Amino acid sequence: MSSGRPTLADVIDLLERAYPPRLAESWDRVGLVAGDPAAVIGTVVVAVDATDAVVDHALGAGADLLLVHHPPLLKAVHSVAADTPKGRMLHRLIEGGCALYSAHTNADAARPGVNDALAETLGLTPGPPLSPTGDGTVDRWVVTVPHDDVEDLLHAVFAAGAGRMSGYTECSFSVPGTGRFRPGDGTDPALGTVGEPESVSETRVEFVAPPELRSAVRRAVTAAHPYEVPAMDVLVNHAGPGPGPEDTGLGRICELEHPMTLAEFTELVGSRLPETLWGVRAAGDPQAEIRRVALCGGSGDSLLGAARAAGADVYLTGDLRHHVVDEHLRGGGPMLVDAAHWALEFPWCAQAAALLEEQAGVTATVCALRTDPWTAASGGGVRGR
Ligand SMILES: [Zn+2]
Repeated sequence: MSSGRPTLADVIDLLERAYPPRLAESWDRVGLVAGDPAAVIGTVVVAVDATDAVVDHALGAGADLLLVHHPPLLKAVHSVAADTPKGRMLHRLIEGGCALYSAHTNADAARPGVNDALAETLGLTPGPPLSPTGDGTVDRWVVTVPHDDVEDLLHAVFAAGAGRMSGYTECSFSVPGTGRFRPGDGTDPALGTVGEPESVSETRVEFVAPPELRSAVRRAVTAAHPYEVPAMDVLVNHAGPGPGPEDTGLGRICELEHPMTLAEFTELVGSRLPETLWGVRAAGDPQAEIRRVALCGGSGDSLLGAARAAGADVYLTGDLRHHVVDEHLRGGGPMLVDAAHWALEFPWCAQAAALLEEQAGVTATVCALRTDPWTAASGGGVRGR
Protein backbone atom coordinates (compact mmCIF):
# COMPACT_ATOMS: atom_id res chain seq x y z
CA MET A 1 0.00 0.00 0.00
CA SER A 2 2.81 2.42 -0.93
CA SER A 3 0.31 4.88 -2.39
CA GLY A 4 -1.65 4.90 0.88
CA ARG A 5 -4.57 3.44 -1.00
CA PRO A 6 -5.86 -0.06 -0.31
CA THR A 7 -5.39 -2.86 -2.80
CA LEU A 8 -8.32 -4.80 -4.19
CA ALA A 9 -7.26 -7.64 -1.84
CA ASP A 10 -7.59 -5.24 1.12
CA VAL A 11 -11.06 -4.15 -0.03
CA ILE A 12 -12.13 -7.77 -0.52
CA ASP A 13 -10.88 -8.60 2.97
CA LEU A 14 -13.10 -5.84 4.37
CA LEU A 15 -16.10 -6.90 2.27
CA GLU A 16 -15.74 -10.53 3.32
CA ARG A 17 -15.68 -9.56 6.98
CA ALA A 18 -18.90 -7.56 6.50
CA TYR A 19 -20.56 -10.06 4.14
CA PRO A 20 -18.90 -13.44 4.89
CA PRO A 21 -19.02 -15.74 1.85
CA ARG A 22 -19.87 -18.67 4.19
CA LEU A 23 -23.30 -17.05 4.65
CA ALA A 24 -24.10 -17.41 0.92
CA GLU A 25 -26.66 -20.00 -0.17
CA SER A 26 -25.08 -23.19 -1.59
CA TRP A 27 -26.28 -22.39 -5.14
CA ASP A 28 -24.87 -18.88 -5.09
CA ARG A 29 -21.64 -17.68 -6.71
CA VAL A 30 -20.30 -14.69 -4.82
CA GLY A 31 -16.94 -12.93 -4.76
CA LEU A 32 -14.48 -11.53 -7.25
CA VAL A 33 -15.63 -11.87 -10.88
CA ALA A 34 -12.82 -9.93 -12.55
CA GLY A 35 -9.87 -7.87 -11.42
CA ASP A 36 -6.33 -8.11 -10.06
CA PRO A 37 -6.19 -8.43 -6.26
CA ALA A 38 -2.93 -6.44 -6.33
CA ALA A 39 -4.56 -3.44 -8.06
CA VAL A 40 -4.81 -0.22 -6.06
CA ILE A 41 -8.37 0.94 -5.38
CA GLY A 42 -9.28 4.62 -5.11
CA THR A 43 -12.88 4.76 -6.31
CA VAL A 44 -15.70 2.25 -5.96
CA VAL A 45 -19.19 2.36 -7.47
CA VAL A 46 -21.93 0.26 -5.85
CA ALA A 47 -25.00 -0.99 -7.74
CA VAL A 48 -27.55 -3.80 -7.64
CA ASP A 49 -26.90 -5.02 -11.21
CA ALA A 50 -23.96 -4.83 -13.61
CA THR A 51 -26.02 -3.69 -16.60
CA ASP A 52 -24.46 -1.92 -19.62
CA ALA A 53 -25.72 1.42 -18.29
CA VAL A 54 -24.21 0.74 -14.85
CA VAL A 55 -20.89 -0.17 -16.47
CA ASP A 56 -21.04 3.12 -18.45
CA HIS A 57 -21.62 4.94 -15.19
CA ALA A 58 -18.79 3.14 -13.35
CA LEU A 59 -16.27 3.73 -16.13
CA GLY A 60 -17.40 7.36 -16.43
CA ALA A 61 -16.84 7.80 -12.70
CA GLY A 62 -13.30 6.40 -13.04
CA ALA A 63 -14.14 3.47 -10.77
CA ASP A 64 -11.45 0.92 -9.95
CA LEU A 65 -14.09 -1.46 -8.60
CA LEU A 66 -17.75 -2.04 -9.37
CA LEU A 67 -19.41 -3.72 -6.39
CA VAL A 68 -22.74 -5.32 -7.28
CA HIS A 69 -25.35 -7.37 -5.48
CA HIS A 70 -26.30 -9.78 -8.27
CA PRO A 71 -23.54 -12.19 -9.45
CA PRO A 72 -23.20 -11.57 -13.20
CA LEU A 73 -22.02 -15.15 -13.83
CA LEU A 74 -24.41 -17.03 -11.52
CA LYS A 75 -25.16 -19.59 -14.21
CA ALA A 76 -22.30 -21.39 -15.94
CA VAL A 77 -20.95 -19.73 -19.07
CA HIS A 78 -18.65 -21.28 -21.65
CA SER A 79 -17.58 -18.04 -23.24
CA VAL A 80 -17.02 -14.44 -22.27
CA ALA A 81 -16.50 -13.37 -25.89
CA ALA A 82 -17.08 -9.66 -26.36
CA ASP A 83 -20.06 -10.26 -28.66
CA THR A 84 -22.10 -11.83 -25.83
CA PRO A 85 -23.91 -9.58 -23.31
CA LYS A 86 -21.92 -10.80 -20.31
CA GLY A 87 -18.66 -10.96 -22.23
CA ARG A 88 -19.16 -7.39 -23.49
CA MET A 89 -19.71 -6.20 -19.94
CA LEU A 90 -16.58 -7.99 -18.67
CA HIS A 91 -14.39 -6.85 -21.57
CA ARG A 92 -15.40 -3.25 -21.03
CA LEU A 93 -14.71 -3.39 -17.30
CA ILE A 94 -11.34 -5.13 -17.72
CA GLU A 95 -10.27 -2.74 -20.51
CA GLY A 96 -11.38 0.17 -18.32
CA GLY A 97 -9.29 -1.08 -15.38
CA CYS A 98 -12.37 -1.69 -13.25
CA ALA A 99 -12.70 -4.84 -11.12
CA LEU A 100 -16.06 -6.52 -10.52
CA TYR A 101 -17.15 -8.11 -7.25
CA SER A 102 -20.52 -9.39 -6.07
CA ALA A 103 -21.97 -9.85 -2.58
CA HIS A 104 -25.32 -11.59 -3.00
CA THR A 105 -27.05 -13.96 -0.54
CA ASN A 106 -24.13 -13.48 1.84
CA ALA A 107 -25.04 -9.78 1.91
CA ASP A 108 -28.74 -10.72 2.31
CA ALA A 109 -27.97 -12.85 5.38
CA ALA A 110 -25.29 -10.65 7.01
CA ARG A 111 -25.91 -8.24 9.90
CA PRO A 112 -26.15 -5.53 8.83
CA GLY A 113 -27.02 -6.59 5.30
CA VAL A 114 -29.50 -6.11 2.47
CA ASN A 115 -32.56 -6.89 4.60
CA ASP A 116 -31.48 -4.60 7.44
CA ALA A 117 -31.01 -1.77 4.94
CA LEU A 118 -34.50 -2.47 3.57
CA ALA A 119 -36.09 -2.46 7.04
CA GLU A 120 -34.31 0.72 8.06
CA THR A 121 -35.35 2.48 4.84
CA LEU A 122 -38.95 1.77 5.89
CA GLY A 123 -38.27 3.14 9.39
CA LEU A 124 -38.52 -0.36 10.92
CA THR A 125 -36.16 -1.98 13.40
CA PRO A 126 -34.84 -5.18 11.80
CA GLY A 127 -35.43 -8.15 14.11
CA PRO A 128 -34.58 -11.85 13.82
CA PRO A 129 -34.08 -13.49 10.43
CA LEU A 130 -37.03 -15.24 8.79
CA SER A 131 -34.78 -18.12 7.79
CA PRO A 132 -31.77 -18.33 10.12
CA THR A 133 -28.43 -19.47 8.72
CA GLY A 134 -27.85 -23.19 9.26
CA ASP A 135 -30.26 -25.89 10.46
CA GLY A 136 -31.05 -24.42 13.88
CA THR A 137 -28.43 -26.52 15.66
CA VAL A 138 -25.40 -25.12 17.40
CA ASP A 139 -22.11 -26.88 18.18
CA ARG A 140 -21.22 -27.25 21.85
CA TRP A 141 -17.45 -27.55 22.17
CA VAL A 142 -15.83 -29.22 25.16
CA VAL A 143 -12.06 -28.73 25.44
CA THR A 144 -9.81 -29.66 28.35
CA VAL A 145 -6.77 -27.44 28.77
CA PRO A 146 -4.19 -26.73 31.54
CA HIS A 147 -5.42 -23.95 33.87
CA ASP A 148 -2.77 -21.49 32.72
CA ASP A 149 -3.82 -21.79 29.07
CA VAL A 150 -7.56 -21.17 29.50
CA GLU A 151 -7.39 -17.45 28.67
CA ASP A 152 -5.31 -17.99 25.53
CA LEU A 153 -7.66 -20.73 24.36
CA LEU A 154 -10.79 -18.62 24.91
CA HIS A 155 -9.21 -15.61 23.24
CA ALA A 156 -8.44 -17.74 20.15
CA VAL A 157 -11.85 -19.39 19.84
CA PHE A 158 -13.73 -16.13 20.43
CA ALA A 159 -11.65 -14.52 17.68
CA ALA A 160 -12.73 -17.40 15.41
CA GLY A 161 -16.40 -16.54 16.06
CA ALA A 162 -17.27 -18.92 18.93
CA GLY A 163 -19.04 -17.94 22.15
CA ARG A 164 -21.92 -15.89 20.72
CA MET A 165 -25.44 -16.48 22.03
CA SER A 166 -28.39 -14.23 21.09
CA GLY A 167 -26.64 -10.91 21.44
CA TYR A 168 -24.17 -12.06 24.13
CA THR A 169 -20.51 -12.55 23.25
CA GLU A 170 -17.55 -14.37 24.86
CA CYS A 171 -19.87 -16.91 26.54
CA SER A 172 -18.16 -19.93 28.11
CA PHE A 173 -18.41 -22.34 31.04
CA SER A 174 -15.51 -23.99 32.80
CA VAL A 175 -14.93 -26.43 35.64
CA PRO A 176 -11.66 -27.80 37.07
CA GLY A 177 -10.73 -31.47 36.79
CA THR A 178 -7.89 -33.90 36.28
CA GLY A 179 -6.57 -35.05 32.91
CA ARG A 180 -4.73 -38.40 32.74
CA PHE A 181 -2.67 -39.85 29.90
CA ARG A 182 0.37 -42.00 29.14
CA PRO A 183 2.48 -40.72 26.21
CA GLY A 184 3.25 -43.57 23.78
CA ASP A 185 6.41 -44.30 21.79
CA GLY A 186 7.02 -41.69 19.11
CA THR A 187 5.01 -38.92 20.82
CA ASP A 188 6.41 -35.55 21.80
CA PRO A 189 4.43 -34.66 24.95
CA ALA A 190 4.32 -31.04 26.15
CA LEU A 191 3.94 -32.46 29.68
CA GLY A 192 5.12 -35.80 31.10
CA THR A 193 7.50 -38.47 29.88
CA VAL A 194 7.12 -41.09 27.16
CA GLY A 195 5.93 -44.36 28.73
CA GLU A 196 5.06 -42.83 32.14
CA PRO A 197 1.47 -42.26 33.34
CA GLU A 198 0.80 -38.56 33.90
CA SER A 199 -1.98 -36.65 35.62
CA VAL A 200 -2.47 -32.93 35.17
CA SER A 201 -4.84 -30.38 36.70
CA GLU A 202 -6.89 -29.14 33.76
CA THR A 203 -9.93 -27.02 33.12
CA ARG A 204 -12.86 -28.33 31.13
CA VAL A 205 -13.97 -25.39 28.97
CA GLU A 206 -17.29 -25.33 27.12
CA PHE A 207 -18.54 -22.84 24.55
CA VAL A 208 -20.87 -22.79 21.57
CA ALA A 209 -20.20 -21.98 17.91
CA PRO A 210 -22.20 -22.10 14.67
CA PRO A 211 -21.65 -25.41 12.81
CA GLU A 212 -20.30 -23.57 9.76
CA LEU A 213 -17.36 -22.36 11.90
CA ARG A 214 -16.34 -25.90 12.92
CA SER A 215 -13.07 -26.02 10.99
CA ALA A 216 -12.11 -22.45 11.98
CA VAL A 217 -12.74 -23.21 15.66
CA ARG A 218 -10.81 -26.50 15.44
CA ARG A 219 -7.86 -24.61 13.96
CA ALA A 220 -8.07 -22.03 16.76
CA VAL A 221 -8.15 -24.73 19.47
CA THR A 222 -5.22 -26.60 17.94
CA ALA A 223 -3.16 -23.41 17.57
CA ALA A 224 -3.84 -22.09 21.08
CA HIS A 225 -3.62 -25.40 22.97
CA PRO A 226 -0.21 -26.40 24.35
CA TYR A 227 -0.73 -30.14 23.83
CA GLU A 228 0.36 -32.13 20.80
CA VAL A 229 -3.09 -33.78 20.73
CA PRO A 230 -5.70 -31.54 22.42
CA ALA A 231 -8.75 -33.33 23.86
CA MET A 232 -11.86 -31.81 22.32
CA ASP A 233 -15.43 -32.87 21.68
CA VAL A 234 -17.99 -31.28 19.39
CA LEU A 235 -21.57 -32.05 20.41
CA VAL A 236 -24.45 -31.08 18.12
CA ASN A 237 -26.89 -29.19 20.33
CA HIS A 238 -30.46 -29.19 19.04
CA ALA A 239 -31.66 -27.04 21.94
CA GLY A 240 -30.19 -23.83 20.49
CA PRO A 241 -31.69 -20.57 21.75
CA GLY A 242 -33.63 -19.94 18.49
CA PRO A 243 -32.98 -17.01 16.20
CA GLY A 244 -31.98 -13.88 18.07
CA PRO A 245 -32.37 -10.26 16.99
CA GLU A 246 -28.80 -10.16 15.68
CA ASP A 247 -28.57 -13.60 14.10
CA THR A 248 -27.73 -14.00 10.43
CA GLY A 249 -30.08 -15.43 7.82
CA LEU A 250 -32.45 -14.50 5.04
CA GLY A 251 -35.37 -12.12 5.61
CA ARG A 252 -36.24 -10.15 8.74
CA ILE A 253 -39.15 -9.99 11.18
CA CYS A 254 -40.01 -6.48 12.37
CA GLU A 255 -42.57 -5.33 14.94
CA LEU A 256 -44.36 -2.05 14.18
CA GLU A 257 -44.32 0.46 17.02
CA HIS A 258 -47.79 1.61 15.98
CA PRO A 259 -50.16 -0.69 14.09
CA MET A 260 -51.18 0.45 10.60
CA THR A 261 -53.51 -0.82 7.91
CA LEU A 262 -52.35 -2.72 4.86
CA ALA A 263 -53.23 0.35 2.76
CA GLU A 264 -51.07 2.56 5.00
CA PHE A 265 -48.19 0.08 4.97
CA THR A 266 -48.35 -0.10 1.18
CA GLU A 267 -48.19 3.72 1.06
CA LEU A 268 -45.20 3.66 3.39
CA VAL A 269 -43.33 1.15 1.21
CA GLY A 270 -44.17 3.11 -1.95
CA SER A 271 -43.00 6.40 -0.44
CA ARG A 272 -39.74 5.10 1.10
CA LEU A 273 -38.40 2.82 -1.64
CA PRO A 274 -36.87 4.34 -4.77
CA GLU A 275 -39.46 4.95 -7.47
CA THR A 276 -40.17 2.41 -10.15
CA LEU A 277 -42.57 2.72 -13.02
CA TRP A 278 -45.14 0.33 -11.57
CA GLY A 279 -44.70 1.05 -7.87
CA VAL A 280 -45.90 -1.24 -5.10
CA ARG A 281 -48.98 -3.48 -4.85
CA ALA A 282 -50.60 -5.35 -2.00
CA ALA A 283 -52.78 -8.45 -1.70
CA GLY A 284 -55.25 -8.72 1.21
CA ASP A 285 -57.85 -6.53 2.92
CA PRO A 286 -56.56 -2.94 2.60
CA GLN A 287 -58.11 -2.08 5.98
CA ALA A 288 -56.67 -5.07 7.86
CA GLU A 289 -54.36 -4.15 10.73
CA ILE A 290 -50.64 -4.88 10.64
CA ARG A 291 -48.42 -5.26 13.70
CA ARG A 292 -45.76 -7.74 12.58
CA VAL A 293 -43.96 -7.35 9.26
CA ALA A 294 -41.87 -10.01 7.54
CA LEU A 295 -39.68 -8.82 4.69
CA CYS A 296 -37.12 -10.14 2.26
CA GLY A 297 -35.37 -8.16 -0.48
CA GLY A 298 -35.35 -9.65 -3.98
CA SER A 299 -37.33 -12.76 -4.92
CA GLY A 300 -38.68 -13.99 -1.60
CA ASP A 301 -41.45 -16.45 -2.48
CA SER A 302 -39.41 -19.30 -0.99
CA LEU A 303 -39.94 -17.70 2.43
CA LEU A 304 -43.76 -17.46 2.24
CA GLY A 305 -44.05 -20.41 4.64
CA ALA A 306 -41.49 -18.91 7.02
CA ALA A 307 -43.43 -15.62 7.04
CA ARG A 308 -46.59 -17.53 7.96
CA ALA A 309 -44.78 -19.54 10.65
CA ALA A 310 -43.40 -16.30 12.10
CA GLY A 311 -46.94 -15.02 12.64
CA ALA A 312 -46.42 -12.05 10.34
CA ASP A 313 -49.44 -9.93 9.37
CA VAL A 314 -47.84 -8.94 6.08
CA TYR A 315 -44.87 -10.13 4.02
CA LEU A 316 -43.00 -7.67 1.81
CA THR A 317 -40.91 -9.09 -1.03
CA GLY A 318 -40.57 -9.04 -4.82
CA ASP A 319 -41.25 -11.12 -7.93
CA LEU A 320 -44.51 -12.60 -6.61
CA ARG A 321 -46.73 -14.43 -9.11
CA HIS A 322 -50.47 -14.94 -9.59
CA HIS A 323 -50.91 -18.59 -8.52
CA VAL A 324 -48.37 -18.38 -5.73
CA VAL A 325 -50.11 -15.32 -4.24
CA ASP A 326 -53.63 -16.66 -4.72
CA GLU A 327 -52.88 -20.03 -3.12
CA HIS A 328 -50.87 -18.48 -0.31
CA LEU A 329 -53.69 -16.10 0.65
CA ARG A 330 -56.29 -18.88 0.51
CA GLY A 331 -53.98 -20.95 2.70
CA GLY A 332 -54.14 -18.37 5.47
CA GLY A 333 -51.74 -15.60 4.47
CA PRO A 334 -50.09 -13.44 5.66
CA MET A 335 -51.07 -10.57 3.39
CA LEU A 336 -48.49 -9.66 0.78
CA VAL A 337 -46.83 -6.52 -0.50
CA ASP A 338 -44.96 -6.89 -3.78
CA ALA A 339 -42.37 -4.29 -4.81
CA ALA A 340 -39.74 -4.16 -7.54
CA HIS A 341 -36.86 -6.56 -6.91
CA TRP A 342 -34.36 -3.77 -7.63
CA ALA A 343 -36.09 -1.24 -5.35
CA LEU A 344 -36.07 -3.67 -2.42
CA GLU A 345 -32.33 -4.24 -2.70
CA PHE A 346 -31.20 -0.75 -3.69
CA PRO A 347 -30.99 0.53 -0.05
CA TRP A 348 -28.08 -1.90 0.49
CA CYS A 349 -25.92 0.08 -1.96
CA ALA A 350 -25.68 3.03 0.45
CA GLN A 351 -24.85 0.68 3.34
CA ALA A 352 -22.01 -0.92 1.38
CA ALA A 353 -20.72 2.44 0.10
CA ALA A 354 -20.64 3.85 3.65
CA LEU A 355 -18.75 0.76 4.86
CA LEU A 356 -16.13 1.19 2.12
CA GLU A 357 -15.73 4.94 2.70
CA GLU A 358 -15.43 4.58 6.47
CA GLN A 359 -13.32 1.44 6.70
CA ALA A 360 -11.39 1.12 3.42
CA GLY A 361 -10.66 4.83 2.95
CA VAL A 362 -11.82 4.83 -0.65
CA THR A 363 -14.28 7.07 -2.46
CA ALA A 364 -17.45 5.02 -2.79
CA THR A 365 -20.61 6.20 -4.52
CA VAL A 366 -23.96 4.62 -5.27
CA CYS A 367 -25.05 4.23 -8.88
CA ALA A 368 -28.63 5.50 -8.74
CA LEU A 369 -29.56 4.24 -12.22
CA ARG A 370 -32.81 2.31 -12.00
CA THR A 371 -32.08 -1.22 -13.18
CA ASP A 372 -35.66 -2.41 -12.72
CA PRO A 373 -36.27 -3.66 -16.29
CA TRP A 374 -39.87 -2.38 -16.68
CA THR A 375 -40.08 0.87 -18.67
CA ALA A 376 -43.75 1.51 -19.50
CA ALA A 377 -47.09 0.76 -17.82
CA SER A 378 -50.76 1.30 -18.49
CA GLY A 379 -54.17 0.27 -17.26
CA GLY A 380 -53.52 0.38 -13.50
CA GLY A 381 -55.33 2.54 -11.01
CA VAL A 382 -58.36 0.39 -10.06
CA ARG A 383 -58.91 0.98 -6.34
CA GLY A 384 -58.83 -1.98 -3.92
CA ARG A 385 -61.74 -4.36 -3.50
ZN1 LIG B 1 -31.80 -9.72 -5.87
